[in-house]
Amino acid sequence: MNLILLGAPGSGKGTQGALLSARLGIPKIATGDLLRAAVHDGTPLGLQAKRYMEQGQLVPDDVIMGLIEEVVTAPAARDGVIMDGFPRTIPQASAVDALLAARGRRVDRVLLIDVAEEELVRRMLGRAAQEGRSDDTPETIRKRLAVFREQTEPLIAHYRAQGVMTTIPGTGAVEEIAQRIVGSLGR
Ligand code: AMP
Repeated sequence: MNLILLGAPGSGKGTQGALLSARLGIPKIATGDLLRAAVHDGTPLGLQAKRYMEQGQLVPDDVIMGLIEEVVTAPAARDGVIMDGFPRTIPQASAVDALLAARGRRVDRVLLIDVAEEELVRRMLGRAAQEGRSDDTPETIRKRLAVFREQTEPLIAHYRAQGVMTTIPGTGAVEEIAQRIVGSLGR
């Protein structure tokens, strides 16, 4: 099963994706994690991505496409993958659709984790204090939320048209939200 977790920064995609991965036994892959590792290691991709990430902007599609292809076509993703933090733009979504279609597969379900904006800001400021992520400053948080609205929200209509969109209310206890997700998948 190929699943996409869609949600604004701070919506809990990473937490819920990890729980779902354990439950379904398919890997969860987050482009944000891969990019942070690339920046840390100083790889060519990391060097290109760094300044965009620091500013709360998306890494340009032409820079990230290779990484997305690698993830979707990896042997570990043969039986399915939970996509966390990608696709993030319509061109990325089209690329994922095409990569899967070439292998006789498709996006089976997109889960939109829905959280009100003031709650997102509150959570990200809390995370900034705990994890010290350099892109969790008040200014970049606002920027990342605006980028989500402008560049990632159009994916909702894209996947609604494919009949694979499900909205999950993303507030409440972590376990409660996990139950909603599992329930929506009929598991
Ligand atoms: P995340 O951990 O998913 O919030 O991602 C952190 C940052 O990495 C984002 O603000 C972007 O700069 C970058 N990033 C992660 N995934 C993508 C993607 N699929 N396309 C473009 N930029 C991305």
